[in-house]
Formats: sequence, structure tokens, C-alpha cells
Amino acid sequence: MTPTHNPVQEVRTLITLPERARLLVVDDQPINIQTLYQVFHTDYEVFMATGGMQALAFCRDNQPPDLILLDVMMSGMDGIEVCRRLKAESALADIPVIFVTALADPIDETRALEAGGVDFITKPVNPAVVRARVKTHITLKAQTDLLRSLVFIDGLTGVANRRRFDEVLPIEWRRCRRSCNAVTLLMIDIDHFKRYNDHYGHQAGDVCLQKIAATLKAGLQRSHDLVARYGGEEFVCLMPECDHPAGQKKAQELLATIAALGIPHADSPTANHVTLSIGICVMRPGESNTMDELVAAADAALYDAKLGGRNRSSSSAQSMEIVQLRRQDVRK
Ligand code: GH3
Ligand code: MG
Ligand code: MG
Repeated sequence: MTPTHNPVQEVRTLITLPERARLLVVDDQPINIQTLYQVFHTDYEVFMATGGMQALAFCRDNQPPDLILLDVMMSGMDGIEVCRRLKAESALADIPVIFVTALADPIDETRALEAGGVDFITKPVNPAVVRARVKTHITLKAQTDLLRSLVFIDGLTGVANRRRFDEVLPIEWRRCRRSCNAVTLLMIDIDHFKRYNDHYGHQAGDVCLQKIAATLKAGLQRSHDLVARYGGEEFVCLMPECDHPAGQKKAQELLATIAALGIPHADSPTANHVTLSIGICVMRPGESNTMDELVAAADAALYDAKLGGRNRSSSSAQSMEIVQLRRQDVRK
């Protein structure tokens, strides 16, 4: 591990509370809402709902809150049912729910916890206790979210890992199929990287991988674009809703940006700096193709770029515009 990169330290510094966490207080008695508002409004952004349906609608229609303080006995839908419904919706299931209720029977407490609540506080609330419990659960939620996201991050470079790419590709493939858009995949490999390691050492190789990953990531700015480390010194750029001319342009830009970094590579037969080879494949998802073909075709195009002399991009013959152009040539 290089001195500049310490994932353990990064995890520690990353586990911080959300800047201003959002609390939803649900109670059919406005006076109870008012009490909790007084306890929390200086530290949190507090939202209020006076019924179960209103609470569910708030969570669905807005950025979900970081925690819900939920009354059990409410007219209409009771708190237990609200909690069950939240837990049944994948987008809302992770919101911690603390029940706040006048019920003090262990049977009620058990029912609430079985419905998915993380804690159970009895009224009248003690402000210091409810504040401490809310803080604990918001911290736990932030830690869980962070750990979950780390599963999808490459430890060395900080970009998405292969697992993330394997998860995102089918989602974007289906999305582009529905919207009749093209998907571009760039398969990227660092040229003569074994020689780089042999010449400068493995640690310098790691730093080089980090610089390349950061540069690729900076080069892709649309919200659905994904840069992932595919393995070793290979990266992929997945660009949904991107056609062949745009994909080719992006590949040229990336080659130029990496060249401009000017990372010395004294032992490269291709250039005196680190270079990339890029395979491009563009497909419009449909009946006649699969995402496995997209990956295989980008990989084959990368192989062509290597054979063609490295430090270049090459487009797959399966890329849709090329197939269309060839069909037009045949017709002429
Ligand atoms: P080509 O131009 O044909 O791609 O040649 P190459 O030397 O880049 O390809 P090859 O597959 O022969 O070697 C890849 C090298 O990448 C070998 C391996 O040690 C190095 N590598 C893979 N993962 C890492 C890593 O995490 N850190 C470092 N420093 N090197 C790595
Ligand atoms: Mg390789
Ligand atoms: Mg290589």
C-alpha cells in the first residue's frame, strides 16, 4: 500500500454524521409533534406528518428521511402498519424507525420491534434520552450505508469495482433498451504496464493506476456514466445514452488527457510516457444482441488496438453505426 493511500483511515474519516440529518416525526397529536420539534429542531431538519398515509407519501415523494420517530396509536393507519409498509418497500426499508408511544407493555414493545422498529421510547419523552437514541441510530445508519458502498469500490483506486460494473451493466442495458438508446462501452488497458512495474517498482505502479483511474473518472461527468476497474490494469467506461461518434470522441479525449499527464515510462516501446489502448463498442440493446456481446466486442476491439500499435482506440465491427454503414455499403 502506498503511503498516500490508507483505506482504513479513509473509512474512519468517511464515517461522519450527515451534515444536517433529516428527521420525520409522525404523530396524530400536534402537541406531541411540537414537543419533539423543540427537542430536535436546532440539530436536525425536522419534518412532520399527522397520519400514517401522509408519512408514507412524504417518504415516497421526497428524499427519504434519515430517521423516523413514529407514534404507535394513531387514528387511521397505526404506527405498526406504517412501519410494516416502509419495510416492504426496498427504497424505504433502510430508514431506521424509532417508536415513540404511551404504551409501555412489553407485548406492545415486542410487536413494534417485530414490525421492524430499531428502538422503542415511551412518552412522556425525556429529551436527553430521545436525543441520544436518535444520534446513535443516525450514526449506525451512516456506517451501514458507507460499508455497503465500500463493497462496490476498488480499494486501490477508489473507483467502482468489477462487482459494481456487473451490477450496473444489466440495469443500464435494460434502461437503454426501454428508451431505445445506445450504450457505449470502452474497454481500456494500460500499455506495457508489466514493463512499468519492472522499471519503476510495484508501488509506483500502484500510484500510476490511481492517477489513471482518477483521470478517467474526471473525464466522465454524466450522472449515469460509470468508470470501473475491470481487473489488474484494465478499466471500463460504461456510457449509457451515448452513440458511436460520441463514444469515439470520448475515447480520443481520454487518450489525450492521459498523454497530457505525462507519466514517464522510460521502458515503453510505444512512447516515453504512459499510454492506453481502448476498445470501443456501441450497441442499441434489443432482441438481436446481449450485454455479454457488448463486453466481448469491446474486448476484441481492445485487442485490435493493441495489434494496431497501442496508444490508440479501435471500434468493434459490431458497433451499431458501423454495422449500419456496412449495410449501406452493401446496398450501394
Ligand atoms: P500490454 O501493453 O499488452 O497490455 O502489456 P502489459 O504489460 O500492460 O500487460 P500484461 O498483461 O503482460 O501485464 C499487466 C501487468 O499489470 C502485470 C501486473 O503485474 C500489473 N498489475 C496488475 N494489477 C496491478 C496492481 O494492482 N498494481 C500494480 N502495480 N501492477 C498491477
Ligand atoms: Mg491487461
Ligand atoms: Mg496492459
